[in-house]
Amino acid sequence: MTHERLIIIGAGPAGWTAAIYAARAGLSPLILTGPEPGGQLMTTTDVENYPGFVEAVTGPDLMAAMRGQAERVGTRVVEEAVEAVDFAASPLRVGPHTADAVIIATGAKARWLGLPSEEAFKGRGVSACATCDGFFFRGQDVAVVGGGNAAVEEALYLSGLCRSVTLIHRRDALRAEKIAQDRLFARKNIAVKWNAQVAEVVGDASGVTGVRLTTGEILGVTGLFVAIGHDPATAPFAGHVPLDSEGYIVVEPGTPCTAVPGVFAAGDVADKTYRQAITAAGMGCMAALEAERFLAH
Ligand SMILES: Cc1cc2nc3c(=O)[nH]c(=O)nc-3n(C[C@H](O)[C@H](O)[C@H](O)COP(=O)(O)OP(=O)(O)OC[C@H]3O[C@@H](n4cnc5c(N)ncnc54)[C@H](O)[C@@H]3O)c2cc1C
Repeated sequence: MTHERLIIIGAGPAGWTAAIYAARAGLSPLILTGPEPGGQLMTTTDVENYPGFVEAVTGPDLMAAMRGQAERVGTRVVEEAVEAVDFAASPLRVGPHTADAVIIATGAKARWLGLPSEEAFKGRGVSACATCDGFFFRGQDVAVVGGGNAAVEEALYLSGLCRSVTLIHRRDALRAEKIAQDRLFARKNIAVKWNAQVAEVVGDASGVTGVRLTTGEILGVTGLFVAIGHDPATAPFAGHVPLDSEGYIVVEPGTPCTAVPGVFAAGDVADKTYRQAITAAGMGCMAALEAERFLAH
């Protein structure tokens, strides 16, 4: 067992940014990387919207740079996954470690349809993030799967970039809020396929060329955006820090502060609205500044 001033759980943009700020504040943070050092961006190629790069940077290169920067300023890195915590204890317990303050930055994962053809075309036409990848499909025909607020928001966002958007929904009514539905139905280039599911993603060496629906119809699209929800990685924290009904860590609005003194949360684990590398990094910075203030008092 080691005692630390600050433990950061998770090594995506939120965790590495928190580590950079905490290390430069003299806190000598320990970061526990979990199963995916680098986080979600390790699974993508071009990132065109992270500021500071004239040419697109690849996800793995961006994360390697963040890690290198964090280590250079004094972050200690352990490739360990946290399975249990006790935040009622003093000091706080994180697996075999104790800490005066903890930043949770364990991210979230998109839910997928679970089709082999979806897996085969991930990153080649199949995406779970319109803000991230919509730009690559401008002027093209795309489809979105889902019926909640997220799916409607993705369809609206894409309709500003793409020639046409087809929303595929397995029921005959959307779950999204009425105001979002009104905006959706008012868009001329959005159509809805009701009572339909994706049976297969069709494509060739160039990427996705279409989507076969359970109704038998084939939609000619080059992009398929799956918007059926995300799962935040919060299992070890349930019962130790307040979670909302979808499992996200609850923070005081506009801050990374949880209801537990000394425990902060940053990035996708506490943000179901923006889910971007830059917003995760911004929250990581805020969490480190709050942790530094907490430890100083
Ligand atoms: C394919 C893809 C493409 C994307 N493209 C873009 C893009 O172009 N631009 C953009 O801004 N955003 C993009 N995103 C979104 C972006 O990746 C996320 O918003 C961002 O990574 C969130 O950062 P995070 O630090 O909150 O969490 P994550 O990146 O999810 O990192 C979570 C970290 O927590 C660790 N962890 C999880 N559980 C535990 C545990 N129990 N113990 C210890 N550690 C744990 C993981 O190992 C990982 O290191 C993309 C996402 C995907 C999936």
